[in-house]
Amino acid sequence: MKLILLGAPGSGKGTLAKQITRDFDIPQISTGDLFRQFASSGSKLGLELKSYMDSGKLVPDELTIQILKDRISQSDCKNGFILDGFPRTIKQAEVLRTITEIDSVILVDLAFEEIINRLVSRRICPQCGDIDNASYEGYTGNCRKCGTPLYQRDDDKLETVKNRLEVYEKNTSPLIDFYSDRLFKVSSKGTPEETYQPVKTFLKGLEAK
Ligand code: AMP
Repeated sequence: MKLILLGAPGSGKGTLAKQITRDFDIPQISTGDLFRQFASSGSKLGLELKSYMDSGKLVPDELTIQILKDRISQSDCKNGFILDGFPRTIKQAEVLRTITEIDSVILVDLAFEEIINRLVSRRICPQCGDIDNASYEGYTGNCRKCGTPLYQRDDDKLETVKNRLEVYEKNTSPLIDFYSDRLFKVSSKGTPEETYQPVKTFLKGLEAK
């Protein structure tokens, strides 16, 4: 099963991808995570990627496509994958279409106002990648799964969040039309479980086909 998770930054794509990975045995491929790994290496390429990310701008298409191509050619992707954060431009989608066929595109829908509230209080575990939120009940600042202190992503600061949403509106939202023949839309207004249930039912049906 080859899936794309489409939606604004902070709409809940990462959380949904982890739920799907757990139940359907396909890897989550997040271009943002791949770029952050490069950035943390401190290499010249990593620093270049970090400067795009810290300002909320998109990494140029050629570089993004090359990194994505390398990743999906690895053996764990032979039964499929979930793309989280790719494609983000029509150009990326057009190139992807020449590489492989996508079965379904899940659009994760949430109002921008709610996204801003969630993103500025989002916290990540550097150890296991779990995502938490400083406004959730029981939040302690440490990961609920492994106890590691959580951190805030540099690009989850308010000004950068606003830039990222503008970039989404301009460059990425046209993909909703591009993929209209294979789109499944879900609202992420509720809890992660409430968001996941209709997606799970839909994917079970897709898998049975
Ligand atoms: P994310 O973790 O998906 O929110 O991505 C973090 C940042 O990585 C984005 O704000 C972009 O700077 C960059 N990025 C991630 N995926 C892409 C992509 N498909 N195309 C261009 N830039 C990307």
